[in-house]
Amino acid sequence: MSKRGFKILTYPNKFLHRVAQEVVDISDDLVKKVDRMWTTMYKNRGIGLAAPQVGLDMRLVVIDVGPKVSKDEGKLQNPFNKVVMINPVIKAASEELYEYEEGCLSVPGIQVCVERPEEVTVKFFDLSLKEHEITASGILAVCMQHEIDHLDGVLMIDHLPIREREMAIEEILDYKEKHRK
Ligand code: ZN
Repeated sequence: MSKRGFKILTYPNKFLHRVAQEVVDISDDLVKKVDRMWTTMYKNRGIGLAAPQVGLDMRLVVIDVGPKVSKDEGKLQNPFNKVVMINPVIKAASEELYEYEEGCLSVPGIQVCVERPEEVTVKFFDLSLKEHEITASGILAVCMQHEIDHLDGVLMIDHLPIREREMAIEEILDYKEKHRK
């Protein structure tokens, strides 16, 4: 895995609010970028990362909702859940909703409860441009929806009622002010 991670863009960076472009072909350069995305995600103890979060204008996400990788890397990872999704599309979503307290590497300092469909079916391509369709619930469903939102320029705070959203934004800016490097 690449040692060099990307810098993560954080709210209120405008790049996070753009609709990302579809990936049209898989180059060596793209494979390297995916590798750096994994590095970035694990370094920051995330379970998912979308390309726009690291300044890449492409519809691509990486997800690993398995046990988080710590220093004795690799062994703790759940390879079944580790997935690269290219041009992912939500094909079906359950009417039943599920509330989960979400965090986001681009929205530092806060966690917010977001209600989303409990089960979703997502179609996507892998790095060999092979098509997949998976139906998931629980944390994987939450994570896929959260990351696909990023590709459409939507952040978790955008799901909150206006007043709560304003309060969340104050908290983020406060946190960023205190943790300025
Ligand atoms: Zn996020």
